[in-house]
Amino acid sequence: MPRALITGITGQDGFYLCEQLQGAGYEVVGVVRAGSQAPAGIHTVRGDLGDPPSLRAAVLETAPDELYHLAAPTFVPASWKDPAGTLALVAGATATLLQAAREVEGTRVLVASSGEVFGAANVSPQNEDTPMRPRSPYGVAKVAAFGFVDTLRQKHGLHASSAIAYNHESPRRPERFLPRKVARAAAAIKLGLQDELVLGDMGAVRDWSHARDVVHGYRLMLEQDEPGDYVLASGVGRTVGELVAAAFAVVDLEPERYVRVDEALVRPAERTPPVGDISRARERLGWEPATSFEAMIDEMVRADLADLDAAQSA
Ligand code: NAP
Repeated sequence: MPRALITGITGQDGFYLCEQLQGAGYEVVGVVRAGSQAPAGIHTVRGDLGDPPSLRAAVLETAPDELYHLAAPTFVPASWKDPAGTLALVAGATATLLQAAREVEGTRVLVASSGEVFGAANVSPQNEDTPMRPRSPYGVAKVAAFGFVDTLRQKHGLHASSAIAYNHESPRRPERFLPRKVARAAAAIKLGLQDELVLGDMGAVRDWSHARDVVHGYRLMLEQDEPGDYVLASGVGRTVGELVAAAFAVVDLEPERYVRVDEALVRPAERTPPVGDISRARERLGWEPATSFEAMIDEMVRADLADLDAAQSA
């Protein structure tokens, strides 16, 4: 039975990846930090991004066939509060895990990178060859982690790959991320639990896909004979306005009646919208998102309707 070790198993991607790997007959082991709730029925080992020996021990004790490094402080705005800490937790931990993987025969490593590495990109859409110009400490840290994957792969012949993932969502995304905030608000307004939804720039463009599809891409990357870096995205830019329209359509409400724009939340628009070019993933992995944008938003709003309804009846 193949064995997979997952950091970040308690997060959104960790949930879907664990589900898929177990379905494919893997033994899954999760790295969980102290104080965090381990998923039921999953074997776990202790590990914290800020404690390199714990990460090394997790890899050596588990000796996985596949190591998926998904853990990170993932809320981009928070990275401005502690740039140095973000760098250590994102890039330092990646280097530690890669070094440990070298000590295990045959381990293949997937590291979750981010479209944030492109920051103020000079083109849109961005592909694997687009120059990286990060514009947040989180983006800088992800560039450094990407560099470790590439450098240690070149030097030691490691089967290590970076997934340059763009925004991916699901009902498991916390509300501090916009699509979940919008889905939750549409459901709450429908149920009469909320009056309005306050947002920033309705014209801002993002590239959203479903987390289930993105983690399927992670798996395909490790199935390749050769390691490599891939952009995983929907390939389509959509505005916040389109996101809102899709969410309110699920509950049959007119967004104009409920959405208020707060100018204080409006940020300067990107000159080049953050949109991923998925040509390489499509050609080499045969990957593309299976879930449409509308189906993803529908799933999210319906999950929130059910959740809020259950909370009301409890
Ligand atoms: P998430 O839901 O926020 O999960 C983050 C995971 O990291 C959680 O399991 C969390 O554990 C763990 N973690 C955070 N700090 C840790 C620490 N100090 N030690 C050990 N574990 C720690 O994130 P996600 O959406 O699944 O994202 C997965 C990966 O994809 C991340 O590397 C993220 O940067 C990258 N990515 C995500 C997106 C996206 O749109 N979702 C886009 C681009 C890239 P706790 O439960 O203990 O907090």
